[in-house]
Amino acid sequence: MKPIEKSQQAFKEASNYFPGGVNSPVRAFKNVGGDPLFIKKGAGSHIFDIDGNEYIDYVLSWGPLILGHADPKVVSDLQAAVSNGTSYGAPTLLETELAKKIQSIVPSMEMMRMVSSGTEATMSAIRVARGVTKRDKIVKFVGNYHGHSDSLLVDAGSGVATFDINTSPGVPKSLAYDTLTSPYNDVDTIKQIFEKHGDEIACIIVEPVAGNMGVIPGTKEFLQTLRDLTKQSGSILIFDEVMSGFRAAYHGAQNLYGIKPDMTTLGKVVGGGLPVGVFGGRRDIMEQVAPSGPIYHAGTLSGNPLAMTGGISTLNQLSPELYDQMTAKVDRLAKGIADAAQAHNVPVVVHHVGTMWSYFFNQGPVNNFADVQKSDMDFFAKFFRALLENGIYTAPSEYETNFMSSKHTDAEIDQTIAAFNQAFDDAL
Ligand code: PLP
Repeated sequence: MKPIEKSQQAFKEASNYFPGGVNSPVRAFKNVGGDPLFIKKGAGSHIFDIDGNEYIDYVLSWGPLILGHADPKVVSDLQAAVSNGTSYGAPTLLETELAKKIQSIVPSMEMMRMVSSGTEATMSAIRVARGVTKRDKIVKFVGNYHGHSDSLLVDAGSGVATFDINTSPGVPKSLAYDTLTSPYNDVDTIKQIFEKHGDEIACIIVEPVAGNMGVIPGTKEFLQTLRDLTKQSGSILIFDEVMSGFRAAYHGAQNLYGIKPDMTTLGKVVGGGLPVGVFGGRRDIMEQVAPSGPIYHAGTLSGNPLAMTGGISTLNQLSPELYDQMTAKVDRLAKGIADAAQAHNVPVVVHHVGTMWSYFFNQGPVNNFADVQKSDMDFFAKFFRALLENGIYTAPSEYETNFMSSKHTDAEIDQTIAAFNQAFDDAL
């Protein structure tokens, strides 16, 4: 067993200050048993805990670190930026520089607003959609997660699903009432919802490649149906690409499917590990945001110069070629995991899109939240702990996604596949 006494002691102390000992629920490892590791530092594809253990990291801060930990250029750009001060609350050239870069990669972002988290991005996008359409109802899909704002914490994925919360206490009934939910990848149900409520619906918000119930790609037919229904009914289609943006593909899921949403939300990679979210889209919609229009949005640290620098420095290092390389590594890893499971007679479904990957201990197929729930969660917990013992740090829930960075080497992929084989031996 790896020594983790220092992490255990740190967790005990943190539990006096933070509910469950953490500042975001899934970090507590509660559903997989055992105590969470306290991390001292990261370097490239590796993280190091405070007991001195080293792991190959596929969580990568839940997605942002596409260049791995402490990328030398990101670090030096941040060091240069911080010497000029940390925040001004006034416009800087950096905001426009990042916006131009984002628009060059995701052209549907005709205008945008910088915020400090994915939650802020989706909550603000919803407000804009409601303000523009003058309608209250929104549609989201069961098992999609869009952050922790009231309207969106209904039938959500990620930690909400991990802890079986469904709809959080504290969300007013009236807001939950205006949030209509529908199964993911289900064309008939969403058509029925629009037949009944089409002219009351402000927007659909959807993860085009879902990553908060493990990885489940939307089908082309499903996403095209959402595009058609929103167009016909005068509602707004919001692609929540907080996770899939710069992850499912260089130009995002919208380019992968060839479907242009009215609005897009971004986060995670777009800040390179610093707190950044972005919402934006059609110019005529975004021009309704204050002060050019009446729909209010603001933020003391929105467009923060350090956060913008993290984003610029990261996005400037990305290229389609880099995605080809990372995707090839994910392909090989996914095959290695499937082979390891088969060799051990364990039913597994491995899903991967671009740099996102996850696996379900499930007979398959896995196309929506109800399918994920059929997975063997007890074996997943045991297997997760076995992977940790073998030096592999993965997402501690079937309702989460793993990621690849540009720093993971082919040798590390081989090492990971060997560790999966060993973890099957250990966990069975
Ligand atoms: N939208 C999606 C698709 C996400 O995956 C997440 C977070 O995981 C969010 C929104 C919320 O982002 P944040 O945690 O930065 O508030």
